[in-house]
Amino acid sequence: MLVGIDIGATKTVALAVGKDGSVRGRSKKRTKAREPEAILERAEKAAREAVKEAGASFKKVRRVGIGVPAGVLDGVARLAPQLGWQDVPVRELAEGIFGRQVVVENDVNLGLVGEFHEANLGPLSTACAFFFGTGMGGAVIVDGRILRGGRGLAGELGHIIVEPGGRACGCGNAGCLEAYASKTALLARIKSALFDEGRESALRDEISPDDRVVRSSVLKKAWDAGDDLAREVVEEGMRYFGLGVASMMNGLDPDLVVLGGGVVEAFGDEMVESVKDQAAPHLFADRERISVVRRTALGDDAVALGAAYVARTG
Ligand SMILES: [Zn+2]
Repeated sequence: MLVGIDIGATKTVALAVGKDGSVRGRSKKRTKAREPEAILERAEKAAREAVKEAGASFKKVRRVGIGVPAGVLDGVARLAPQLGWQDVPVRELAEGIFGRQVVVENDVNLGLVGEFHEANLGPLSTACAFFFGTGMGGAVIVDGRILRGGRGLAGELGHIIVEPGGRACGCGNAGCLEAYASKTALLARIKSALFDEGRESALRDEISPDDRVVRSSVLKKAWDAGDDLAREVVEEGMRYFGLGVASMMNGLDPDLVVLGGGVVEAFGDEMVESVKDQAAPHLFADRERISVVRRTALGDDAVALGAAYVARTG
């Protein structure tokens, strides 16, 4: 029995996973505290509950995999703005709390590992993923291994440039994909249209000037209602998203491109098809390759399943 845990800003999901990759038990808890110890103690409780639901003994769990929303180097979470963590030795703390070996990895990397190994997509060698949520997360697998790069900075697909001299990005640069295709970017565009330009929109009832986040469901509802502003902003996001996908495909020639995250989940296949339509004309040599682009197969479980996978393989 293996345990994979996905620690997110709002919830922690623990899965008890069989050696064949099947989910045998699960537990979900709200991520309440911000202190690393308190969060890991709740994660340990969730792990015990998941294993109990699987009808197994926690003693049988050899190793635990944990995904965190941060860059991870040697078991240390470098910076996790969503949790308010900086340089937290997660592996060391978790091994003390769980009383067994723990593998810690960036959550986006694990989401792609989950899709790559556990979604039964057949033999694959190279893949990349885009997770369209508050930001635009990215990950790359080359020849079956997570691409880390020379300094551990690889896979930041949200920061490939899609518009020279374009909009300011949270990373300090300009024209990044994330500055066009992320909930943060969409909200900034909507607020500017509503409150600076005085545009009319159904979104006026949903969004106030000091909002810092927007729910994907709010965008989807306005989109479905045919709201002009929602259509304009989301369509622009999808256009740039397609450019980002095409650029990565031209660089990697992957046999899988995963599109996930809250916005993709909310908009579903309609968004995936639109991004494919935007990307295909830019593909080098063979446009049919666009067929490797697909929505997450594992949805919400991808990160925890990826965590269980790295717990198994080390
Ligand atoms: Zn950026």
